[in-house]
Amino acid sequence: MRRAIYPGSFDPVTNGHVDVIERARKLFDEVVVAVAVNDQKQPFFSLAERLEFLREVTAPISGVKVARLDGLLMRFAVEQGAQAVVRGLRAVSDFEFEFQMALMNRKLEASVETIFLMPKEDYTYLSSRIVKEIARLGGDVSNFVAPCVVKGFAEKLKR
Ligand code: ADP
Repeated sequence: MRRAIYPGSFDPVTNGHVDVIERARKLFDEVVVAVAVNDQKQPFFSLAERLEFLREVTAPISGVKVARLDGLLMRFAVEQGAQAVVRGLRAVSDFEFEFQMALMNRKLEASVETIFLMPKEDYTYLSSRIVKEIARLGGDVSNFVAPCVVKGFAEKLKR
């Protein structure tokens, strides 16, 4: 059983994340999407909302589990019996931070590899941050996120 962890804030999950999950599933029997609880960033959507969106969006994809990640990623990976951590790489701008994290994680736990997957070109410009900015300004984000997330934005942003 090959298992990978895909960690992140997923605030909220975008079509780019889903693309990475689908690619990871081609390489691993099971992908555990791990939603960070202890995020230093103040999330727009609550942990419960982020988990719910991910569950709904990944329901049609077999072999995907959604879990909360509370604490050290490498400890979680070992507990889950995972061989790898998957991260998405969109552009060179992602590289420096991801490289540092991957090497630090290897120092912490040498048995778990970090694997980088590139999304479909259409998603290279997509980030949760940019989607939140567009939604806040009243723009249409339905090309970038699932319908449940569009609904989540509408509910959260109505005054
Ligand atoms: P974090 O806050 O840990 O960066 P995110 O939820 O923003 O978490 O992203 C989780 C992972 O998904 C990261 O590896 C990020 O690079 C990747 N990712 C985010 N958006 C995309 C996208 N559009 N295409 C591919 N990978 C992406």
